[in-house]
Amino acid sequence: MARYTEAVCRICRRENTKLFLKGDRCYANKCAFERRAHAPGQHGARRGKLSEYGLQLREKQKVKRSYGLLEKQFRSVFEKAERQKGVTGANLLILLERRLDNIVYRLGFAASRNQARQLVCHGHFLVNGRKVDIPSYLVKSGDLISLKIKSQKSANILESLETVTRRGTPGWLEMDKANFEGRVKELPTREELSPQISEQLIVELYSK
Ligand code: SF4
Repeated sequence: MARYTEAVCRICRRENTKLFLKGDRCYANKCAFERRAHAPGQHGARRGKLSEYGLQLREKQKVKRSYGLLEKQFRSVFEKAERQKGVTGANLLILLERRLDNIVYRLGFAASRNQARQLVCHGHFLVNGRKVDIPSYLVKSGDLISLKIKSQKSANILESLETVTRRGTPGWLEMDKANFEGRVKELPTREELSPQISEQLIVELYSK
């Protein structure tokens, strides 16, 4: 499975925003972005004014990296979003949110999307009672995501479930911690997703 090997806190510093890639540490005062909110590298403290292209590129990188995707994977999600009816930018964000690794993270089974991806790959989850170990699997409205009985004693997962209250569960998902399962009540609308993303910049970048 291809993945980023760069120190993840450098990504937040590069993108000039907290991307919450490291679980608990992101909420503590150990967060590298809180301590050094400038880009990494020798000239990182000097952030110049970005060109139009620079703004588009940074926005794409920010979204791509927060979902932990590589360029080819992200491009393929974008192309799928383009083929769908409706607004491409909104379709893109909704498709990213529907990924099983993201759902596992949003429900609180994992402290970060990276950890969620690993858990999915290791076959800890069932979707509607059937094992799914593909992180890019797209959930649908009404799907039930549950943790395998054998995995319900995992210390990492139990710890994540304890601390999820800090970030909360989105309204379009419903979590039943006692039964280690969560349901997709409905697919999210653009309004329910992060207002800090300017997806139109990504559409413009890929339309060049
Ligand atoms: Fe980003 Fe989390 Fe590292 Fe802070 S601790 S810089 S939010 S990954």
